[in-house]
Amino acid sequence: MEESSKTGEQISDLNQDEIGDIYITGTQVNFYFHCQRQLWLFSHLIRTEHESDLVLQGRLVHENSFQRETKEIDLGAINLDFFDVKAGVLHEVKHSPSWSKAHEWQVLYYLYVLKQKGARDLTGKIHYPRQKETYTIQLTKQHEEKLSQILDEIKLIIDKPIPPQGRMKKSICSSCSYFEFCWVD
Ligand code: SF4
Repeated sequence: MEESSKTGEQISDLNQDEIGDIYITGTQVNFYFHCQRQLWLFSHLIRTEHESDLVLQGRLVHENSFQRETKEIDLGAINLDFFDVKAGVLHEVKHSPSWSKAHEWQVLYYLYVLKQKGARDLTGKIHYPRQKETYTIQLTKQHEEKLSQILDEIKLIIDKPIPPQGRMKKSICSSCSYFEFCWVD
């Protein structure tokens, strides 16, 4: 039976137990679109020094972008940079638009999960503060169908015993935290 529609306040009050049956993270959806080898490495808890630097840079961009307006929500798999409770707008802040398709599907995934948890009318916004760009996203039926397939594919990829072989183009890899892992022969 479909849950009744939740307000932004009710969504912001969700806890990890209520989201607990969702274990694929937005970052994994993002990496599925960027590089499936990256998705596997990340899902198998392989971390690099470079990744720590990227996380720190990302955090600084986040902290300088929305200091007062909104609320950060961390529900494990669902980790929203900022959620505007009254407007029902979920904000994701990114360092650079170079992986914009991956960013878009990460936000669509959050909208998809929160819809399953009862939120019906949320909007997503992706911000690139350094470039002064913002994109607005709405979840459609087509997105939901595609996400259902993508989640099945993500599970198949991360269940494999070894990472997908082959590398992306060097220009794509150069900003990836696994660059040294993949490119030092
Ligand atoms: S360095 Fe390139 S091939 Fe390796 S995980 Fe990153 S994007 Fe994929």
